[in-house]
Amino acid sequence: MEDYGFSTKAIHVGQEPDSATGSIITPIFATSTFVQESPGKHKGYEYSRSGNPTRAALEKCVAALEEGTAGFAFSSGLAAESVIVDSLPSGSHIIATNDLYGGTFRLFEQVKKSGNQLEVSYVDLTEPAVIEQSIKPNTRMIWVESPTNPLLKIIDLKKIAALAAKYKLISVCDNTFATPYLQKPLQLGFDIVVHSATKYLNGHSDIIAGFIITNQAELAAKIKFLQNAEGAILSPFDSFLLLRGLKTLAVRMQAHCKNAQTIAEFLARHAKVEKVLYPGLPDNPHHPVAKDQMAAFGGMITFFIRGGSSATIKFLDNTHLFSLAESLGGVESLIEVPALMTHASIPKEIREKNGIADNLVRLSVGIEDVDDLIQDLDHALQAI
Ligand SMILES: *Cc1c(COP(=O)(O)O)cnc(C)c1O
Repeated sequence: MEDYGFSTKAIHVGQEPDSATGSIITPIFATSTFVQESPGKHKGYEYSRSGNPTRAALEKCVAALEEGTAGFAFSSGLAAESVIVDSLPSGSHIIATNDLYGGTFRLFEQVKKSGNQLEVSYVDLTEPAVIEQSIKPNTRMIWVESPTNPLLKIIDLKKIAALAAKYKLISVCDNTFATPYLQKPLQLGFDIVVHSATKYLNGHSDIIAGFIITNQAELAAKIKFLQNAEGAILSPFDSFLLLRGLKTLAVRMQAHCKNAQTIAEFLARHAKVEKVLYPGLPDNPHHPVAKDQMAAFGGMITFFIRGGSSATIKFLDNTHLFSLAESLGGVESLIEVPALMTHASIPKEIREKNGIADNLVRLSVGIEDVDDLIQDLDHALQAI
């Protein structure tokens, strides 16, 4: 299986036809426990928190897609992130990107600071020199998102991995926005990849799920222990849905990226748009790094509406195909204002300092017909 291409792996790894029945699709093993022949003698499964065949198939598949050796499916992206932080000794310091997913920021600030005595420095990871200045004796981890959310900055993953190796820090990449179809952080030297599988990996907006993938036995053992000890596992039914979603990950990502590129170019030309942030635009400052480390530029677009907050809300009230909702990565197009929605949990002064203004709009471009999407945006922009 190792030599197969991405889509072949997505469709087949871990998903051999069921040996008992020939079922081509991995069955949903809806069971909490497994009968043992005699005490301790069983077929590899004892209790579904510790391991379940549907989840195991999924974990093999996602590990293969990220070029890792071990994968772990969680009940949400944040549950996976929580386990990563819990794998560190109490009192550890993390260096994280300053343009961080709002829920990750809340987890660090409002849960792990008091619970794990965690310290976090939020820095601009597009400037490696700043990272070296932030390293302290208790620094144990660097936490990266690329593209970042919502500003779609691209962080040079090879540089971060090299720095982490130099200072013996564990490097973590939240690969939710890119997916392994566009970039494989473990191949670029990262230790851990984490996902909100709720987004592109599943792709159909019908489950909440998280993932951790690593290629290091010691980290894998720690994470396996914590996954079982803390218990935030993905259910067999959701594992089945995620396996089904993964089968089309490559074709979905191709369509997302193609539509997003066309829409970004349309918005960049539009009089009612102040500025577009999309790494696929040649004049975007992050374009060269994106071109180097990603297969394409992703399905997310961020842009500033001309006219401030009231114009922005009017625009959002007038889109129809783009549904006003948090989340991203599904086949249907979504639109939101980070300052009022996904990033509202970040204090206003920090938001503004980091460039998350009230007229900033984020699109999750779906795979509908691009002409319909453009017409929808154009109509809503004219309504301002
Ligand atoms: C959604 C998201 C998360 C959190 O994942 P959940 O599945 O919602 O718990 C983490 N990181 C990024 C980049 C996300 O978009």
